[in-house]
Amino acid sequence: MNGLMMQQPLLISSLLVHAERHHGDQEVVSRRVEGDIHRCTYRELAARSRRMAKALATLGVQPGQRVATLAWNGYRHMELYYAVSGSGAVLHTLNPRLHPDHVVYIADHAEDQVLFFDMTFLPLIEAIAPRVKTIKTFVAMTDRAHMPKDSKVANLLCFEDLVDANDDRFEWPVFDENQASSLCYTSGTTGNPKGVLYSHRSTVLHTFGIALPDALNCSSRDTILPVVPMFHVNAWGLPYAACMMGSKLVFPGPGLDGKSLYELFEAERVTMSAGVPTVWQGLLAYVEANGLKFSTMRRTVIGGSACPPAMMKTFEEGYDVQVLHAWGMTEMSPVGTAAVLKGKHAGLSREQRLAVQATQGRVVYGVDMKIVGANGEELPWDGKVSGELLVRGPWIISSYFKGEGGDPLVPDARGRGWFPTGDVATIDADGYMHITDRSKDVIKSGGEWIGSIDLENIAMAHPSVAMAACIAARHAKWDERPLLIVVKKPGAELTREELLAFFEGRIAKWWTPDDVVFVDAIPLGATGKMLKNRLREQYGDRLLAAG
Ligand code: ADP
Repeated sequence: MNGLMMQQPLLISSLLVHAERHHGDQEVVSRRVEGDIHRCTYRELAARSRRMAKALATLGVQPGQRVATLAWNGYRHMELYYAVSGSGAVLHTLNPRLHPDHVVYIADHAEDQVLFFDMTFLPLIEAIAPRVKTIKTFVAMTDRAHMPKDSKVANLLCFEDLVDANDDRFEWPVFDENQASSLCYTSGTTGNPKGVLYSHRSTVLHTFGIALPDALNCSSRDTILPVVPMFHVNAWGLPYAACMMGSKLVFPGPGLDGKSLYELFEAERVTMSAGVPTVWQGLLAYVEANGLKFSTMRRTVIGGSACPPAMMKTFEEGYDVQVLHAWGMTEMSPVGTAAVLKGKHAGLSREQRLAVQATQGRVVYGVDMKIVGANGEELPWDGKVSGELLVRGPWIISSYFKGEGGDPLVPDARGRGWFPTGDVATIDADGYMHITDRSKDVIKSGGEWIGSIDLENIAMAHPSVAMAACIAARHAKWDERPLLIVVKKPGAELTREELLAFFEGRIAKWWTPDDVVFVDAIPLGATGKMLKNRLREQYGDRLLAAG
């Protein structure tokens, strides 16, 4: 017998309709590429999104077609999030930090029809416009006054002209919730980038999930500043969650340096933020150097790579900011787990509590996970045994766009598919998952595994270390041994011997790195993560040379 409740498809447009109706006067503040601060309300943003939806139809965009963006976090980008997906087309957020050859590859692969871009990226657009095969129209996300005078880009349109040319009398279409809504490509650190195609249903369910108190805990009382870019897995879902909850949103535009971010946090009374660890390094360095405090910011979500416990401690003890460590991936929309405490942790000492918060956390309802051994056998949740982490759930990929790479799922005994994350993890009896490494970064020393993240976290706890990466270096006797690549804090004195001595008593002796290389900077990828493959190419033979 079926239940007798309404069938209402879960559509992205419903989030904006809700925000307009129930939080119409809530603000969306953006630092624009033009340099000024722009303010609007959800009511205005919703009306402009409807006008843009009409404009897309006049550009000939059909349901299911891909509309690309190359843009920073800002209100115009948010309007496209809703106008494109809401009208049945697919929003494809391109990452402008990728090499132009990659951008061309991805735009062609996605068969993008229209490309919207921030003026910062005009040189990139001019370079790729003659090369991309399917993009017929380019739209500069600015007003008439700021349009380029003599651009080489043919068919260049102006965002504000498109908005002005249409009124806001538009009803969002209702369609199957399983229709595609947006498309993100994985970074392609191994092989070509692959497309992850989200649906309206997966996006709305993910939004419910991440907004929960035991996940990112978003509310109408929050002012959220997503530092994580809208081209990095949809800013981890925050532009959707903010509409669902009616939170004030603050978009930083291109200014992601410590000073610009700090000023915006203070001016807009931001309560919550989110970003990768490398961004917070810049912010913390700025506030430390200038003796500043955060007057309203109390929580920040850190994910994308492991957050060093030393950074969590600094945020909490120095600035009264709680770090919420979260884990996920593009293939998971992206959020899978968050390190939120349980009631039973109330009596823990600060050190014990921080140890729980330093794990990647517990699953958000909707996601299931397990760890498996070399033969696919499920491993115990004892917090000690590590294995490959597999996940399943309604916002986790079942297949890459265009079937790239074949079937990615691994079936279990009941025939249900699990997605292998490529991460190596332990899970404890309370369900807290702890990533020891990505399988491709694990250091295999004499047949035993050494987790590079633990070693990086120890190095990062040294007061003279600004950034640390640990890689597997080839070794004549042990196959691989850990090699530490370190950036010192400005003006800090630190020798190899001092740093290696710092590991004593903090880790099994045989895990201690064999050597330290001091460098000026560690290369970062398009989403701000350390490019360990590049470091391996450069320093992978270092220990062989040393004998
Ligand atoms: P990629 O970096 O492959 O482009 P993603 O941005 O989807 O793609 O990154 C997903 C990966 O990032 C995860 O599989 C994991 O290795 C790493 N990651 C994400 N969050 C964390 C975290 N909190 N701690 C450790 N690793 C993380």
